[in-house]
Amino acid sequence: SDTINKIAAGEVVERPSSVIKELVENAIDAKASAITIEIKEGGIAMMRVTDNGGGIDRDDIKTAFVRHATSKIETAMDLMTVGSLGFRGEALSSIASVSQIELITKVHRELLGVRYCIDGGEEKSCDDIGCPDGTTIIVRNLFYNTPARRKFLKTAATEAAYINDLAGRLALSHPDVSFKFINNNQNRLHTSGNGNLRDIIYQIYGRDVTGQLLEVDVQGKLCHVTGFIGKPILSRGNRSWENYFINGRYIKSNIITKAIEDAYKTFVMIHKYPFTVFHIEVDPALIDVNVHPRKMELRFNQNEAVYQEIYDIIRAVLEHREL
Ligand code: ADP
Ligand code: MG
Repeated sequence: SDTINKIAAGEVVERPSSVIKELVENAIDAKASAITIEIKEGGIAMMRVTDNGGGIDRDDIKTAFVRHATSKIETAMDLMTVGSLGFRGEALSSIASVSQIELITKVHRELLGVRYCIDGGEEKSCDDIGCPDGTTIIVRNLFYNTPARRKFLKTAATEAAYINDLAGRLALSHPDVSFKFINNNQNRLHTSGNGNLRDIIYQIYGRDVTGQLLEVDVQGKLCHVTGFIGKPILSRGNRSWENYFINGRYIKSNIITKAIEDAYKTFVMIHKYPFTVFHIEVDPALIDVNVHPRKMELRFNQNEAVYQEIYDIIRAVLEHREL
């Protein structure tokens, strides 16, 4: 099962940023209102995610590291009908099999928390500890026991840049959660979590961006789109400022990306990429259930219709008219 876990880890854990995504999604599922992400050397040496969520009951700690152990659903359902971000129960076991983990967690009703250490999937210690409510997970030496995988990582600076980008997107996907990102002891990001998306955009991108936004709040037949699109002055040569979230998830969809870019192109005339922060709510019935373990790409079973609606909504906003 050690081998199986390492193979599974290959699907879930590609690089430090994929670890961060899983840990932050767990923190959000635990109803945290504040999440701190801290890394050293691009996350390869150390990643720490601290949350003030519900914590893990001491009796559940060991099972949380067992593959397919999830407290969130009982059967493999469509992920979009599941209220939580996680549901496969693969992340912690996968991460644990390829790193050294220290978990510190406490539920509110307990006086003491627990510190649990696990190396390459093997339990090292489990002790009571005084700590605040919530969970801290420290992941050290990613891929220390799978050198072939470690070779595929980029430089620490590049891996840190991926995490910085991800932290901003996660903060935008959950404007009601305060996010901090600290890279090598330097504060890189701090959002208030006050629930106001424009404020969060300001805290990440500054006034040059918030001064140039069009607000979107359109209910179509299939989707409800809220958020902001930048005026052409904010156009970029790449997709780094394209943010959208589907039913609260940071996830990619070729159809949605294309609809956004095609609609924008008719407006700016050249092939440039827009600044966007969209929250798209769609009926889970429209979503294709066959998704990747990292849950990064989403497909629709009515591609044409979803494409057309997003395209129409964005054109309407850019042309200042009703849908
Ligand atoms: P999944 O999120 O798919 O359930 P994971 O492997 O990511 O699976 O996590 C396993 C379990 O560990 C979760 O179902 C949850 O019960 C618990 N857990 C993990 N991280 C946290 C956290 N930060 N706060 C509270 N519980 C957590
Ligand atoms: Mg999870």
